[in-house]
Amino acid sequence: MQNHKKGKLIIFSAPSGSGKTTLVRYIMAHLPRLSFSVSATSRLPRPGEKNGVDYYFISADEFKQKIKEDAFVEWEEVYEDQFYGTLRSEVEKIRARGDSVAFDVDVKGGLNIKKIYGADALALFVKPPSLAVLEERLRHRSTESEESLRKRLDRAAYELSFEKLFDKVLVNDDLEKARKDALETVRDFIDKD
Ligand code: ADP
Ligand code: 5GP
Repeated sequence: MQNHKKGKLIIFSAPSGSGKTTLVRYIMAHLPRLSFSVSATSRLPRPGEKNGVDYYFISADEFKQKIKEDAFVEWEEVYEDQFYGTLRSEVEKIRARGDSVAFDVDVKGGLNIKKIYGADALALFVKPPSLAVLEERLRHRSTESEESLRKRLDRAAYELSFEKLFDKVLVNDDLEKARKDALETVRDFIDKD
């Protein structure tokens, strides 16, 4: 029998270093009908990041061209001169298969996607236990220069003020608990009509 269920949209937003990537990867490994919307960005790849898998890495000029072509569902200049955007082509490709879409986007992008898709979308806010723990995790991840780290921490306090606008807050303190909570929440939302 055919599956007539329409795919849903699952949004993960939070300050950088809160654990979005960690939780999204875990959930995707458990939910085969959930696919990741690969965003475009003008920032440089980190060691280990792959083009077309983690992001589509493009120049700032190419990014601006895509804005003109209306290629984005939403886009933000998350940090100065660093653009990030959700590609219409990604969302359409995944939804055409009838699958649900997972997004890892900043807080404004997350709320914009929620506004567009309404009840079909679940907006999750991943919250670190504290700003001090967030800093410790970002330092431990060893992916950022001191300048990039400062940019991320400066923005984090502002982003945390958006928490109340989300459908649900997932506190990422104990990783096992956060994984379980995230998986149950997403599974329930995808399964309901
Ligand atoms: P984001 O995608 O939000 O920037 P990451 O998923 O990259 O965040 O997580 C930031 C760092 O914190 C990574 O090194 C990750 O392994 C680590 N981390 C994530 N969740 C936890 C947790 N619950 N406890 C300890 N470390 C964590
Ligand atoms: P990072 O550079 O750490 O990968 O991402 C920095 C921030 O940009 C994170 O908050 C991440 O969620 C956000 N981000 C990634 N892709 C998009 C996108 O397509 N749109 C928006 N608005 N934010 C994004």
